[in-house]
Amino acid sequence: MKKYFEFIIYPIFCLLPIAMMTKIMATNIDLYFIPGLFYISAMLIVIVLEKLSPWERLWTKSQGDLGLDIFHIFGNLSVSTIAFTLYTLAFSYRNELELPKLSMLSWIAQYFIGLFIFDFGLYFIHRISHTTKWLWFLHAIHHSSERIYFLNSQRRHLLHEVLEGTPGFVMLMILGVSPIVVLMIIYTVNIHLLFQHANISYKMGPFTNIFSVAETHRWHHQRDWKEVQGNYGAIFSLWDFLLGTCLPHKAEPSKSVGLDEPSDLYRMSYLKQHRWPFETMKTYKSILRMKD
Ligand SMILES: [Zn+2]
Repeated sequence: MKKYFEFIIYPIFCLLPIAMMTKIMATNIDLYFIPGLFYISAMLIVIVLEKLSPWERLWTKSQGDLGLDIFHIFGNLSVSTIAFTLYTLAFSYRNELELPKLSMLSWIAQYFIGLFIFDFGLYFIHRISHTTKWLWFLHAIHHSSERIYFLNSQRRHLLHEVLEGTPGFVMLMILGVSPIVVLMIIYTVNIHLLFQHANISYKMGPFTNIFSVAETHRWHHQRDWKEVQGNYGAIFSLWDFLLGTCLPHKAEPSKSVGLDEPSDLYRMSYLKQHRWPFETMKTYKSILRMKD
């Protein structure tokens, strides 16, 4: 019974709420608070599922990271809110320019086109963050966590958060995707990321070639640097599949996750974590050596 339950967790608790959220917004686009409500609800569902069906029981307890990760979630959601506000302001000026107007299409067409484009931007920045030294140092905070659980989804340097979203926002602006659809895309990504990092024992079978879920994303957080150069997809693992960056999955991933050079980055304060890339870039030897 548990085995079957594992296969319905993602469709029922992640995809269905996202579909309900888009349906509600499609019929009443003035309900700006709805995506936030769905995000909070998804988080509560993930918290319950992590207790009921954890992938690793040791990861259900705080390792001194909980308060810090709550800072990260507020920091990154603030960045998303500012980005959405700027997008809305800029959108009102673009009508005077000779640019495509995807906003003329149906709501749902804009949503799917926009989601694919935005997600590819996330894939692209994530991929080059593993091959470009200065980007890696901004991204390392995300990899510093020594357990993978739902709040790990937002453990990111604020500057890296800005960089990750920029290609997607620029492309959606050029194509003319409506601001309200962009809001839906932001929350779709954030709800999915909760499940991508959730410490929940769930499976997707062959659909792991389409969706980048926890089952495959845990491989990306392995401690050995050489083992984690792949599985970059945010929502869709399709990009990894098409562009040859899928990691080989040998049985179950190791539960030893984090950075492969001893570092106190995992538990240092929020402000220190934001200074760390600039202070450490020249001295963090093992990763620099691996990347030469
Ligand atoms: Zn990464």
